[in-house]
Amino acid sequence: AKAAGGNRYAIFDPAMHADLLAEAQQRYELERALAEGQFVVYYQPIVELSSTRLVGVEALVRWDHPERGVIGPDAFIPLAEATGLIVPLGRWVLEQACRQLARWRAAYPSATDVYMSVNLSARQFQAPGLVEDVAAAIAAAGIPAGRLTLELTETLLMRDTVATVEALAALKALGVKLAVDDFGTGYSALGYLRQFPVDIIKIDKSFVDGVATSHEDAVLAQTIVQLGRTLNLQTLAEGIESTDQSSQLEALGCTYGQGYLFARPAAAQQIEGLLRGR
Ligand code: C2E
Ligand code: CA
Ligand code: CA
Ligand code: CA
Repeated sequence: AKAAGGNRYAIFDPAMHADLLAEAQQRYELERALAEGQFVVYYQPIVELSSTRLVGVEALVRWDHPERGVIGPDAFIPLAEATGLIVPLGRWVLEQACRQLARWRAAYPSATDVYMSVNLSARQFQAPGLVEDVAAAIAAAGIPAGRLTLELTETLLMRDTVATVEALAALKALGVKLAVDDFGTGYSALGYLRQFPVDIIKIDKSFVDGVATSHEDAVLAQTIVQLGRTLNLQTLAEGIESTDQSSQLEALGCTYGQGYLFARPAAAQQIEGLLRGR
């Protein structure tokens, strides 16, 4: 509640105090969850649209809460970002994902060209030691750097600072691939695509939703695909739920896709049938 007549908050506001307590409690719970191994990494297949062949998987974190069951990232990533816990949590996801890929590569020789894609938040990106963490995760797992893709958001790439340029260059120098996640939802300045060494554009689900039913959405998706082609970037559409969407995207020239139509994110063992069947 605001103090009467001004735009300052009262020094002691019981409601705000309760919020802070709740946040401290949640932060503590998240830290404990990480320490006690309550997080799990799910994997969602990425396919080539023309053949529906599996080409990669995206690592998506879940919280397997002892009382509340499996909780999706939208419920805890924002708090993890606000508190900084995303840095150790993100490092843990990265290590798990690299190790999982190594296990799959050892078990399924036909899967050696499958790549692992890991989400990076802006906060992780700014934290010191990111490049070292990525290098360490790759080395510990013993996977080729080229089989790891890091997904970055447009907002992160828009922050055109010396630090951003240097970190991206250092990551590229390791040999990892870079993808722009949720493409089209950020600011529409496209200059960063030319300036930064990205490899993949992930077309946001909000364009995919209407691609088979709305002329405008189809035109937007097509524009993104053409932009990718012009800049020599691969295009991947996320959130594909119907065959109409899939064939429309393929017709527009989009190469790769991901979505419930092909497979939902699932625990590692559930993906293995797809790896074996390649
Ligand atoms: P995202 O990176 O855009 O991931 C795609 C989200 O869309 C995932 O939600 C996925 O389950 C969902 N999805 C995939 N296909 C379909 C579909 O056909 N239909 C619908 N309705 N949804 C689909 P999820 O797993 O709940 O993750 C939400 C967001 O949380 C992710 O969005 C990502 O931004 C963030 N996130 C997840 N794991 C991590 C992580 O390890 N680190 C960081 N920094 N962020 C993460
Ligand atoms: Ca993503
Ligand atoms: Ca996305
Ligand atoms: Ca998203």
